[in-house]
Amino acid sequence: MTTHVTIIGAGLGGLTLARVLHLHGIAATVHEAEPAPSARAQGGMLDIHDYNGQLALQAADLMAEFRGLVLDGRQAMRILDRAGAVLFEKLDDGTGGRPEVQRGDLRQLLLDSLPAGTVQWGHKVSAARTLGDGRHEVTFADGSTVHTGLLVGADGAWSRIRPLLSAAVPEYTGTSFVETCLYNADTRHPAAASAVGGGSLMAVEPDREIHAHRESGDTLHTYVLLTKALDWFAAIDFTDAAAAARIAQEFHGWAPELTALITDGDTPLVHRPHHALPDGHRWARVPGVTLLGDAAHLTAPNGEGANLAMLDGAQLGQALAAHPGDVEAALTAYEQAMFPRAADTAADSDRLQESLFGEDVPHALLAAFQAAEPD
Ligand SMILES: Cc1cc2nc3c(=O)[nH]c(=O)nc-3n(C[C@H](O)[C@H](O)[C@H](O)COP(=O)(O)OP(=O)(O)OC[C@H]3O[C@@H](n4cnc5c(N)ncnc54)[C@H](O)[C@@H]3O)c2cc1C
Repeated sequence: MTTHVTIIGAGLGGLTLARVLHLHGIAATVHEAEPAPSARAQGGMLDIHDYNGQLALQAADLMAEFRGLVLDGRQAMRILDRAGAVLFEKLDDGTGGRPEVQRGDLRQLLLDSLPAGTVQWGHKVSAARTLGDGRHEVTFADGSTVHTGLLVGADGAWSRIRPLLSAAVPEYTGTSFVETCLYNADTRHPAAASAVGGGSLMAVEPDREIHAHRESGDTLHTYVLLTKALDWFAAIDFTDAAAAARIAQEFHGWAPELTALITDGDTPLVHRPHHALPDGHRWARVPGVTLLGDAAHLTAPNGEGANLAMLDGAQLGQALAAHPGDVEAALTAYEQAMFPRAADTAADSDRLQESLFGEDVPHALLAAFQAAEPD
């Protein structure tokens, strides 16, 4: 018998864990702060990789359903220079290893795969403490508590479970996204839509980048990346329409179809600062508790975070199934695989970033993609 598993957080990582446990007949409850599945827009598209996120979906026995969510054509990608010239283009022939889905669809797929009542909505954790003998008490914002013999923090960047294992606190990395969406882009924003093409666009210079994805329908989702102090962003009123012009100023001289991805936004700009845990974050084994996903190894967005969270969840579920009655053996096996995987992924992404620090960033990025995609 394996003890009932208490999972905090119904993100992609926590839900994948709950699903794999369910497949192995292990009972789990997921406590989620949000009041309902639809409480918050779930963000844009995710590319789910054949070397991590898809392995998790296989373990969750959801690959066939996942394929039904894939948005055709969205693996196409382009690198443009500031003048809007296409430096590199890869079309989507349907064989790539990074199919794109809407994050909300993927989360719903996982939710639908769980027995009713597995997720307890509106359960925001305010604190957790050790009771001894591998047991923990979790306290919710409404004052209620649960006691558990196996606690998993899948509660993201600002985890309330992490302090049981580690004193590390995420710090600002020096970069932020500023996001907006352009709706019905083919008709209402044709120049921007044509620049993005069928999939995603990257236009990169030192300290500033424009990324845009074609999401379901013809919505364009823009992610502007700027290397700026938090004070710089704090001086901008993102509730004011003038914010778009201020951000676009940082791209003075860039092609109008690129700056239109900022100034033509149909949604107010949103500032998303990037925080990260220290490189190689890890902890000594503490009986009865562990972390997965961003709670364990938050990095600035590098296209791997959701994929890693899902693989963590799947492998933790498999480890618990493989060590019935021995929670500590399961948690040790899980962490011994998870720590180096997270550290290696972060190091790979840092290496790519460093290779782009020279003056000729677009061409360095181009070389990196051509090396990775020899065909
Ligand atoms: C703008 C942006 C773009 C990104 N793009 C990509 C991408 O293309 N590909 C990719 O792989 N990754 C991407 N990432 C990273 C990815 O979003 C995260 O790594 C991933 O969501 C982590 O999953 P998780 O399950 O660990 O945590 P989360 O998705 O953060 O889920 C945590 C859950 O816990 C809940 N929670 C939080 N606190 C509490 C509490 N106190 N009590 C109860 N519940 C709580 C939250 O409401 C949430 O539901 C992106 C990130 C950002 C910010």
